[in-house]
Amino acid sequence: MRKTKKIGIIGGGQLGKMMILDAKRLDYEFVILDPTFHCPAHSIADAHIVAGFDDIEAIKRLASKVDVVTYEFEHISLKALQELEQMGYSVYPSSETLSHIQNKYQQKMWLRHHNIPVPDFVPVNSLADLQGAERMFSYPFLLKTCTGGYDGKGNALIRSRDEMSLCYQDLGAGAVPLMVERFVPFTKEVSVLACRSTNGDVAVFPVAENVHKNSILDETTVPAEISEQTRCEAMEVARQCLEAFNAYGMLCVELFVTPEGHILVNELAPRPHNSGHYTIEACVTSQYENHIRAITGLPLGSTELIRPAAMKNIIGEHAAEPAVVEGLHEAYQNPDVKIHIYGKTKVDRGRKMGHITATAETLEEALRQVRAAHRAIHYQ
Ligand code: AMP
Repeated sequence: MRKTKKIGIIGGGQLGKMMILDAKRLDYEFVILDPTFHCPAHSIADAHIVAGFDDIEAIKRLASKVDVVTYEFEHISLKALQELEQMGYSVYPSSETLSHIQNKYQQKMWLRHHNIPVPDFVPVNSLADLQGAERMFSYPFLLKTCTGGYDGKGNALIRSRDEMSLCYQDLGAGAVPLMVERFVPFTKEVSVLACRSTNGDVAVFPVAENVHKNSILDETTVPAEISEQTRCEAMEVARQCLEAFNAYGMLCVELFVTPEGHILVNELAPRPHNSGHYTIEACVTSQYENHIRAITGLPLGSTELIRPAAMKNIIGEHAAEPAVVEGLHEAYQNPDVKIHIYGKTKVDRGRKMGHITATAETLEEALRQVRAAHRAIHYQ
C-alpha cells in the first residue's frame, strides 16, 4: 500500500493554504493547527486542529499525526518546537533557525556576527536608552519592537526629541523589548526568496521589487529594476543568510537598496512570503512547492522566471462581515491576471484579503493589468 506523506502546518492562513494548493499535486495530506475554524486553509486541509498557537499539547498532537511539521508565521512558541524536536519529530525550519529570527534584535546581531550588512542598531531598555540613541543616530530614526511586529506594526519613526516619549509609550514603554535602528534612505525595497532542501539543494528566486503602502506590501514586480551588481549582491546575501541561519525550507530576505546601490538586510522570514506570491504563476516552481519539496527532502525545482510579473495585494479598506468579494467579472477582462481570494470571513481595514498576479510580455503590461483588475475588485 502506498503511504502518503503527511504534513502538519502551524497556522492556517493564506500562506498555509497556498502550500496545500501546490502540494496536493503530489497527493500529500495536510493537518493544520489554527484557532480560527474558518481560517483560509480550513476548506482544503485534510484535518484541522482548532487550538491556539501557544497550546503546546495541541502542537504535539499535530506532530503525532504527520511526518513533518512546518509553520507559516514566525510568532509561535519556540519552546513547543524545541519539545517536538526533543521528542524526535521533524520540524522545518528548525527551532534553532527560528531562535535567531524571532527577536529582531537577536536577528540583527546574528546577521552582524556573520558579516551580513544591516542598518546600525542598538537595544533600548529604558526611555533613558532611547534618549541616548540621539547621540548615535541623526533624526529621523526608528524605534522597533523586537518581537511580535508585522506589516510595520511595532515600528515608530522618531523625527525629533519631542516625539520620543510618545513613541516609547505607543510601543509599550518597555513592556516588550525594543531597539533603535538607523533610518535607511533606501532607493528601493527588494526581497529574495531562498530555499534549501534537507537533501542539500539550494535554490534562489529572482530578486523582487516591493512597494509598501502604510507599511503593508502593496505591489511586487519582477524582475527588480536594479543594476546587475546590486542583483548579484542581493542573491549572494540571501545565500549567506541560508547558511548563517542554518535554514531549511523557504527563507525570505527583505532588503534595502542604498543610494550607493548596496544591500542592507531589513528582516528575515523563515517561510514563504507575500513578496513571493508571484512565483505561483511566474516561475517554473513556486515558493510554496519548493518549501514543501525542501522539508520533505526532495530535489528543488527551477526558480527561473518565465515572464515578467506584477503582484498587487487586495487589502481590506473597512470592516465588513461577511466578506463578499465583488467585481470578478470586470477584473477578468484583463486576460493575464490570476485572482487569489483567501476566504477570510471578515474584512478589516489593512487586512490581506487576497492578491492578483499578472504575467505578461513586459513588466509595464503586467502592472497595467494587475492595477486595472485591482480597481475592479472590492468588498461589500
Ligand atoms: P518592518 O516591519 O520592520 O519590515 O518595516 C516595515 C517597513 O518600514 C519597511 O518595509 C520599510 O519600508 C520601513 N522601514 C523599516 N526599517 C527601516 C529603516 N531602518 N529605514 C527606513 N525604513 C525602514
